[in-house]
Amino acid sequence: MATDYYGVLGLSRGASDADIKKAYRRLARDLHPDVNPDPEAKERFQEVSRAYQALTDPDKRRIVDLGGDPFDTGPGAGGGSPFGQAGFGGLGDIMDAFFGGAGMGGRGPRSRVREGDDALIRIELDLEQTVFGTTEEITVDTAVLCGTCSGAGTAPGTHPTTCTTCSGRGEVQSVQRSFLGQVVATRPCPTCAGTGQVIPEPCPECGSEGRVRARRTIPVKVPAGVEDGMRIRLTGRGEVGPGGGPAGDLYVEIRERPHEVFTRDGEDLHCRVTLPMTAAALGTTLPLTLLDGEDTDIDVRPGTQPGTVLTLRGKGAPRLRATGRGNLLVHVDVQTPTRLDAEQEKLLRELAVLRGEDRPASAAGETPGGLFARVRNPFK
Ligand SMILES: [Zn+2]
Ligand SMILES: [Zn+2]
Repeated sequence: MATDYYGVLGLSRGASDADIKKAYRRLARDLHPDVNPDPEAKERFQEVSRAYQALTDPDKRRIVDLGGDPFDTGPGAGGGSPFGQAGFGGLGDIMDAFFGGAGMGGRGPRSRVREGDDALIRIELDLEQTVFGTTEEITVDTAVLCGTCSGAGTAPGTHPTTCTTCSGRGEVQSVQRSFLGQVVATRPCPTCAGTGQVIPEPCPECGSEGRVRARRTIPVKVPAGVEDGMRIRLTGRGEVGPGGGPAGDLYVEIRERPHEVFTRDGEDLHCRVTLPMTAAALGTTLPLTLLDGEDTDIDVRPGTQPGTVLTLRGKGAPRLRATGRGNLLVHVDVQTPTRLDAEQEKLLRELAVLRGEDRPASAAGETPGGLFARVRNPFK
C-alpha cells in the first residue's frame, strides 16, 4: 500500500509548496536526530524527510497524486535509507530550520553538521546527444547519508554527551601572562572540535561521520543545445556533509565527441561536400543525411564555385535558452579530375576550344575574355 505522504506531514492533498515546506520544517525541528535522541523520533524523521522529498519533487509528487509510491522500486524496496538513491532534497531546509533564524552567531558551540562539498563529473556525449538532448544514467561515487544513524554519528541506541573539557561551550579559555598583563585567549575546544558534544559510541557504519561513501546511478537530463564544456548542475546531488549535513551540488560537465560528418560552431552545424567539376558546372542534386537522420536533397545550382557555402536554415542545433534552431552550412569543394583517359582528354580539349580557353598566356591580349586574361607574369 502506498504511504500517505501528505498525512505524514499533517497536510491534505493539494497543499501548496509553501505549506509543505512549513510543515516539514516544523517537524524536522522536533525530530532531527541531533536534537531528539529518541529512536522513534529518528524513524519518524526519516518518514517526514521521505514525505518531504516525495512532495517537493514534481515528478515524484505526480506519482503520489496518482496513488503510487515514488520510492517503491519493486520487490524488496522499502528497506534502507530513503536517501540512498533518491538524493537529498531536504537537509538544506533543516539547516534553515535550525540555523536560519537568530542564535547562529559566532559564539557558542558550532554544529557538527556541516554542508557537503560540490562534486564534478565529466560525461562524453555524441554530437546528436548534445544537439538534440538526451537522458544519461551516470554513476557517481559520493558521500551519502549514513543509513544506520541518519547522520547522527552515534551507535544505535546511544546519544552524544556533553563534552567535559569545555562543559558543552565548545571553546576553552587560557590565561597567559605577558608584559601587557593577563591575556585571555579563547579557542575551540580540542576535545570536541568546538561542537560541545562528544560521541562516546560512534556509529559502526560511518564511525561518527554521519555519512558513508556510496556509488549511485542518477539520471541526468541533458537539454537540447548544450555545448562542449558546459556544466549541468544537479542541486543537492553532491557530497553529503559531515554530520549528515546538506549535500553540495553535483556538476556534470559535457564533453562532445567529434562527429564524422558534422562540426559545430555554437548553434550552427557545418559539413563539407566535394563535387566533381562537371557536377559543379552543370548543377546537381546532392543527397545529404542530416544529423537527426532525415534525408534531404540539396539543390546545387549550375556554375557553383569552390568555397561556396550553402545554408540550410533551421537545420542546425536548437538554441539552448531560446527558441528556434541554428543553420546547417554546407561547404562545397570542387574536384578537378586528375587522371583523364584519351577520350575524356579529347572532349575536354574540345570544350576548351569552344569556350576560348585553349589559348596560351601570350595571346591573352587578343582574347579579353579568355581564361588567362588576368594573369600577368610579374618577372617580365
Ligand atoms: Zn552512521
Ligand atoms: Zn569540548
